[in-house]
Amino acid sequence: MELGIIGAGISGIFLALMLKKNNIENKVTLIDANDKIGKKFLVTGNGRCNLGNKTINNDSYNSLITKKIVNSFPMEDQIAFYNSIGVELNEINDLYYPFSFSAKTLLEYFIKYLKERKIKVCCDLDVNEYSLMNNGKIMVRTSKRDFMFDKVIFATGGLSSIPSSSKRNNMFSLMKKHGYKVSDLKPGLTPIVVNEQVKQLENLRVKGNVKLFNGNKIKYSEIGEVLFKKDGLSGICIFNISSLITRNNYNDATIVIDLMPNISETELVDKLNIYNEINKTTSCLEGIFDEKLAEYIWKVSGVNNLRKFTKLEIKKLAKTIKNLKFTFKNSYDFTSSQVTIGGIEYENLNENLESKLEKNIYFIGEILNSDGLCGGYNIMFSFASAYKVYESFVKENLLS
Ligand SMILES: Cc1cc2nc3c(=O)[nH]c(=O)nc-3n(C[C@H](O)[C@H](O)[C@H](O)COP(=O)(O)OP(=O)(O)OC[C@H]3O[C@@H](n4cnc5c(N)ncnc54)[C@H](O)[C@@H]3O)c2cc1C
Repeated sequence: MELGIIGAGISGIFLALMLKKNNIENKVTLIDANDKIGKKFLVTGNGRCNLGNKTINNDSYNSLITKKIVNSFPMEDQIAFYNSIGVELNEINDLYYPFSFSAKTLLEYFIKYLKERKIKVCCDLDVNEYSLMNNGKIMVRTSKRDFMFDKVIFATGGLSSIPSSSKRNNMFSLMKKHGYKVSDLKPGLTPIVVNEQVKQLENLRVKGNVKLFNGNKIKYSEIGEVLFKKDGLSGICIFNISSLITRNNYNDATIVIDLMPNISETELVDKLNIYNEINKTTSCLEGIFDEKLAEYIWKVSGVNNLRKFTKLEIKKLAKTIKNLKFTFKNSYDFTSSQVTIGGIEYENLNENLESKLEKNIYFIGEILNSDGLCGGYNIMFSFASAYKVYESFVKENLLS
């Protein structure tokens, strides 16, 4: 049985590890357009590779199907698999990482593991077509040569963070040509552009309780750090919010930051009144916030540029500090995004992620209409989707 995995990124490598773990003799070929395999691993989790999460909640994934696939190969089973190939993990605040906290160390180990098990790796090959032959085989066409396989697994990922120098074939267009339904592709986990003028706050970081509203309904909240950009907001909680806005088509989205979530508005008013008395020439906000943020706060509060505030003005400032509001304009594009929202629709596939349209063709990873929030959810899905296909091969007795 000749198995071809198209795309040697995160999900393709996971599937290869599974196929080679118990039987070195399995004939597996990994094909990738890049000059090296697994390049995406290196950028994950800021080079630390956040590969899993202890908890999954309603927002973690875009759909129940995606969530179901992950739940069928849950984190404890994923950890057991890592351990079974000699990889130790570390957990911090529910997030899992390789023990080394190094994506590079993990990837290098995977490459050595696969090499030892005689995997065939073909890099610098851009897959541009495939055909089902009369003898049941599948011919895969690349920029340089053709391959013949019994089963082909597409693991070519999404459109996010692809370097502009990369000229690889767009697999979504190819799949549409083969009759697959591909839902709209949009950037997820991105910084966002806001309607307010925030240029003066560029590069400033603030911590707070960051809430997403659509109209006057609260949709999400997360305690986290926000980084101001020249035209908008960034940071993990903003990435998550960007995905939620896009996934749910929120058309009246606002982001409200409570800059002091640990005290109530009334307590804050009392505090500000005291600080206002202490300060003779400096604004009472400047002992709390960066000078630029202090200025931004009094400006949006609609108070005058005063060093001394009236009682009413103090109330307005406290309200702003607890509800610093930004209105969503649009998301940054694919080059700044960590995940693609949309992809091959599950209705084209059976529960083993095999195509209903073309026999012996499978799809795993981000090429599917699957996306997770930050926190290891996307790698968890890549792993679980690869496991679905592997499990079906085991059930079919194809690997012995
Ligand atoms: C900056 C950044 C940080 C991230 N951090 C995390 C994190 O910490 N935790 C987490 O869970 N997720 C993270 N993600 C998301 C995660 O990396 C992806 O969800 C995951 O890589 C998807 O795996 P995949 O195998 O589907 O696609 P990929 O890993 O993107 O692999 C696809 C592969 O297919 C190849 N390919 C594509 N087209 C062709 C073609 N025509 N011919 C041949 N080969 C082709 C590509 O070269 C690539 O190697 C991050 C993403 C980014 C961009």
